[in-house]
Amino acid sequence: MALEIRSIKGTQDILPSDSWKWQFVERQFLDMAALYGFSEIRVPTFEDRGLFIRSVGDTTDVVQKEMYTFTDQGGRELALRPEGTAGVNRAVIESGLITGALPLKLSYVLSCFRAEKPQAGRYREFHQLGMEVFGSQSAAADAELISFVHGFFDHLGLQQIRLEINSIGCPHCRPDYHRALKDYFSARKEGLCPTCQERLERNPLRILDCKCPSCQEIAKDAPSGLDYLCEDCAAHFESLKKRLNALQIDYTVNPRIVRGLDYYTRTVFEFISGDIGAQSTICGGGRYDGLLKSLGGPDQPGIGFAMGLERLLMVLEAQKIELPAPAPCDLYIASMGEEASVIAMSLTADLRSEGFAAECDIVGRSVKAQMKYADKIGARFSMVLGDSELESGRASVRNMADGSTVEVELDGESLSRFLYDVELSRITDSLDVSGIPGFDKL
Ligand code: ATP
Ligand code: MG
Repeated sequence: MALEIRSIKGTQDILPSDSWKWQFVERQFLDMAALYGFSEIRVPTFEDRGLFIRSVGDTTDVVQKEMYTFTDQGGRELALRPEGTAGVNRAVIESGLITGALPLKLSYVLSCFRAEKPQAGRYREFHQLGMEVFGSQSAAADAELISFVHGFFDHLGLQQIRLEINSIGCPHCRPDYHRALKDYFSARKEGLCPTCQERLERNPLRILDCKCPSCQEIAKDAPSGLDYLCEDCAAHFESLKKRLNALQIDYTVNPRIVRGLDYYTRTVFEFISGDIGAQSTICGGGRYDGLLKSLGGPDQPGIGFAMGLERLLMVLEAQKIELPAPAPCDLYIASMGEEASVIAMSLTADLRSEGFAAECDIVGRSVKAQMKYADKIGARFSMVLGDSELESGRASVRNMADGSTVEVELDGESLSRFLYDVELSRITDSLDVSGIPGFDKL
């Protein structure tokens, strides 16, 4: 047997041995987002290609090199989304959400596509957990988002995630900075990669984000944007730092962070881990005050972030953080013969409707094979239904861990009560009530 068609390079199957971890992290993220007042939005996987060119920017790596574009049967120029912010911005304008109650706070979990060189922590299909806040100029919004990410990592038990922040100014002060960068890089043009030589004219800021070692070396001593901030941008950045200090969130100011997308203004930030090698940024975000307007929406500010789910899971793994594994099968009901199999199935249905994870044979195998399967799936209890059990209306339930058995009546209610009692004693056993007066008599 040979598989003739294989998965595409840079894509991954998330198998049951891992999917529960994905589910756990996604659920924690959306639940915690709800605590902060964020609601989930889901946007399409593909959009008009022009949306990304206009928002992400045509001088970025994402648009110039990484976007999966295609022409559909109707001749439309489309692209698989390389990130979530552009689609969410389009959606809030198109739906009218942006003219409703502000601030508008949205969260999302979505797949993204970029034609990059696959390596550890870098895939062609990857997933982002993200948030966007619309309608707040205040640095309080920036601080709230950063404090969410900080709190989320803390909640997952992650340690030593570094936060770096920067301000890249606004349309008022950025032209001066652009000029300074252009002067600096023009004098060193020969050392830049061909892409950056082109960027020099149109968007010298992008050179700071280039991954080429020679460009990075030159960029090291480039002028810092912080020296060119206008009064308003400088005050905004000060306000953010003051709030982060008050929230006791450690950060370093890194004037080299500009982020890979063109729409950012003022605050940009990254959360970085030292545990997962070269692809170390697990979360990136920033403010994009002009984006909604440039897409034809109202002149409302926005700010957001996206974290890479694959990289986040890599850090959890590297830091050996145990996630709560899904509960195994509570009771496996094995059966012998057609009649017992039918009863096993209806008992299983009764237990499931009571919220217990019950299973029975759906293959028609021997009892021995059924029990082997119960063992493989890690069932906590099992029972076998044969003629004598059906006649007596009772069966013995076997504890798969220690082999002990208990007789239980063969009806859904009795079985549920049995499993419920087991669960209750498991919980009380794990509680330390020794110091609480009267609780030892429970
Ligand atoms: P990088 O510098 O690593 O290329 P980026 O600046 O292109 O990242 P963003 O566009 O800000 O990344 O995306 C936000 C987050 O999404 C990143 O911090 C990272 O965790 C994740 N991410 C980006 N590209 C990929 C990819 N190809 N594979 C896996 N995760 C990715
Ligand atoms: Mg990138």
